[in-house]
Formats: sequence, structure tokens, C-alpha cells
Amino acid sequence: MLQAVGGTPLLPLRHIERRGAPVWVKCEHLNPGGSIKDRIAVSIVEDARRRGQLQPGATLVEATAGNTGIGLAMVAAVYGYRLVCVMPEKMSVDKRTTLASMGARVIVTPNAPPSDPENFQNVARRMAAEHGWLLTDQFQNPANIAAHEHGTGPEIVEQTQGRVAAFVAGAGTGGTITGVGRCFRSQGVAARVVLADPEGSALAHWARTGQLGDDGSYAVEGIGASVAPANLDRTVIDEAVTVDDARTFAVARRLIREEGLLVGGSAGTAVAAALQVAERIGGDDPVVAVLPDAMDRYRSQPWLQPTL
Ligand code: PMP
Repeated sequence: MLQAVGGTPLLPLRHIERRGAPVWVKCEHLNPGGSIKDRIAVSIVEDARRRGQLQPGATLVEATAGNTGIGLAMVAAVYGYRLVCVMPEKMSVDKRTTLASMGARVIVTPNAPPSDPENFQNVARRMAAEHGWLLTDQFQNPANIAAHEHGTGPEIVEQTQGRVAAFVAGAGTGGTITGVGRCFRSQGVAARVVLADPEGSALAHWARTGQLGDDGSYAVEGIGASVAPANLDRTVIDEAVTVDDARTFAVARRLIREEGLLVGGSAGTAVAAALQVAERIGGDDPVVAVLPDAMDRYRSQPWLQPTL
């Protein structure tokens, strides 16, 4: 299972009409656990094992929108660890039930800001300290960035022969955009690194100015934040594009129905931003967008309901 993580296809969009540069998509929804987070689950657990931080049967605890939890549940099963996931209420019930079916203990917290003790990250940190569990800490753990700097990034460089006009991704922990951005910089790949941020998140303004923007609410899951996570390195970001929920979900539905890419909502945010960037910059080199996860975890969500 662990070897099946990564090595995902990079495919051109064929049917969604576009102007300018070609748009290629990195199919992270095809990882065995259904998301890009499988990569960091392997990287974080392997790193902790190397450091001797995990005794047999140890308990891991993580604050997660769901995908990191599902990746960790898979890795925990392989190695025989227990897993506790702390999730904000806003995240889909599908992710909760998937985690519970995989044997994780799921704790749901209110959608509280980082300053509130009931915020999911604070609850996870507190439980780790109280019970002596290993906080896998995706928001700060350097093994998150490393998974992308040494995995996702080099794969894209190889799949494009280093010709990438722009790379577009959302940020939840920031691991994807930071790791891929650093890989491109160190390998001399001259791609424009673009943050795709939901309207209502404070990160786009922060990426542009260093000051947090206003924070509001949005329905897309797994990306955007009201404060900048430690794993998001502003210096790798060249540009931020804001996408509202309506456009995000319209593009996600088109990816599913017109491209056969069975993705979740945040793929819509990234591809919507990529289409804009592709039109603006033109040329033959591809704009690469990340498809972070699979549609199966959003079946209960309003944006994915079929009209019967
Ligand atoms: N999309 C979804 C659905 C996610 O769950 C996440 C991770 N929270 C991301 C995108 C963003 O990835 P990263 O944490 O690497 O910034």
C-alpha cells in the first residue's frame, strides 16, 4: 500500500474550453487513500519511526480536514498504530464516516478560530499532551513539505521535462505549494507559483502583502485559512488568485462530468485559477494544477447532488 502512494498521472485537460497555455492536472485523487495527503501520511510516519518516536501500538493524533486522517489511517493500519482525528464540524460527514470505518476515533469540534481553545488544532495538541500521543502535526511538521519537495515536485519536473509555465495549488497546511515551489527553485524550473485561494480565506491577501486579509466563510474544504500555517512559505508564491465557491464547484462538476476526473471541490478552485493564469500568460508550456482529492468524500455535500 505504501508503495502505491505517489507516481500519479499528469494529464492535459481536453474538453473544458480554455484560451492561452495548455492546462495539465496532477491527479492526486488517484492515490490509494484518495488524496494528496497519502504522501504526507507516509512521509510523517516514516520520519517519526526513523526518530524512534513510535513504539509498537502507539497512538497518533492529528487535526485534519479529513484527507490527512484517511492517509494516516491507511499507514496506521499497515504499521499497527491507533489513530485519533480531530475535525472541524464543517468537514463533510462522508470523511467522518470513512475515518470511522477505517477504525479511527473521530472527534468533531466547532468551526472555531485558532484563538479559541476549541479550535481543532488546539484540541489535537491538548489531547496529544494529555495522553502522550504523537501529534503528527501536518501544519508544522517539515516532513509534510519534504513529501512534496522530494515527491510531488520532482514527479512534475520529470513529467514536463522541466517546462512548466505555472504551478497552481491551494493551501491548507501549505505543504504542497511550499514543497513543490522549493523543488522548482532548487532545480532551476522557472515556473510561476500561484496560490489558488477561496474567497473568504485570509491567505491570498497575506501572500500578496504579508498582512492577513479579512476572514470569512466558504464551503470548499481543505484549503484557505484565517491565519498562515507554519508550513506555508510566502517566499515561494509569485501570485495569489481568489476563487469564489460558485466558480469552484462549477469547475469541479465540469472536471467530473466532462473530463472524467472524479475530484473534490478544491480541485475546482485550483483549475479555475489555472484557467485564468493560462489565458493571461499564453505560450506552449503547460500550467499545472493540482487535483488534491476524490469526489467520493463529498457525496453528501450540496454541490455534488445530482438532479434526479
Ligand atoms: N485540498 C484538500 C481537499 C485538502 O484536504 C488539502 C489539505 N488540507 C488541500 C487541498 C491543501 O493541501 P496542503 O495542506 O498541502 O496545502
